[in-house]
Amino acid sequence: MPDIAAFFRICIACIVSTILSLLPSYLSAQEFDRSHGLKELKPGYYVYLHGDDTPGVSSTFNNGVIVTNEGVVVIDTQRTEAIASRVRESISRMTSQPIRFLISTTPHVPFTGGNAIYADTIKIGHENYRISLLKLIEKNSPEEMKKKLPNQTFRERLTLYLGGKEIQIIYLGKAHSQADTMVFIPEDRIVYMGETFYSNEFPYISEGYSSKWMQAIEAAETLKADIFVPGHGFLPKNLKDTRAGLRSHWQILKDVHDAVQKQVATGASESETVSAIDLPQFKKFKGYERALEIAVRRIYRELTTKLP
Ligand SMILES: [Zn+2]
Repeated sequence: MPDIAAFFRICIACIVSTILSLLPSYLSAQEFDRSHGLKELKPGYYVYLHGDDTPGVSSTFNNGVIVTNEGVVVIDTQRTEAIASRVRESISRMTSQPIRFLISTTPHVPFTGGNAIYADTIKIGHENYRISLLKLIEKNSPEEMKKKLPNQTFRERLTLYLGGKEIQIIYLGKAHSQADTMVFIPEDRIVYMGETFYSNEFPYISEGYSSKWMQAIEAAETLKADIFVPGHGFLPKNLKDTRAGLRSHWQILKDVHDAVQKQVATGASESETVSAIDLPQFKKFKGYERALEIAVRRIYRELTTKLP
């Protein structure tokens, strides 16, 4: 008598191993929409992708746009006032609603350089965002500063109720910067991640904190969301694949972190750690050549010193 139970066990093992072997190729075969400009993700929700072909830097810098029947919310402002003006023109071609709020998710210049273009809106950012931005623009005139600095700061979270939408602005902790913030709209299952999500790119962590960054991603993953909008990189054509993309980003941070930790445990110096680490599985990601060493050095310091 053939052992039916054993037969089924073998079948199930075959199916599981086939699925597992297909999984990485499925993820790497994701198709991306590589066009720039303003795109609709779902009714009322947009992302503006600004392309940058400079070698070694992120291929796109993305800012969010939410349109409600009581006005528009813009998330981040791009690197320069010229780019921010183009974004604003695209928004005004798409809707007659006024822009009422600017939410900033990071103080870094590629996302705040155009703030002054939104001087007529209510500007919101984390309290650490205000401190970091003040340092960046300390040589500006008081009038310029007023155009760029937030009118409203928050510590843990702040919620806007606009046009029937609940727009949650949530501090993620020190992850990529000192002030990483995400914007989540529960009813529409979409979350704008800012610079805590590099889609299909190797992340820059020159002043970030790998452990806290991984925790920030884990916190975002608990949200009941279908679309995770990256601050960097193109989005997959199937927007539901953004959740897998976020997990893939977490895995990069985890692998670099663990590789550095292994070197630290052997007593290696910072430069020995840089020479010892090669992660060929991530070479396909834009930014790898330059960003790997930056990440290794930063994580080495994170693991061996007390970072502010
Ligand atoms: Zn940044």
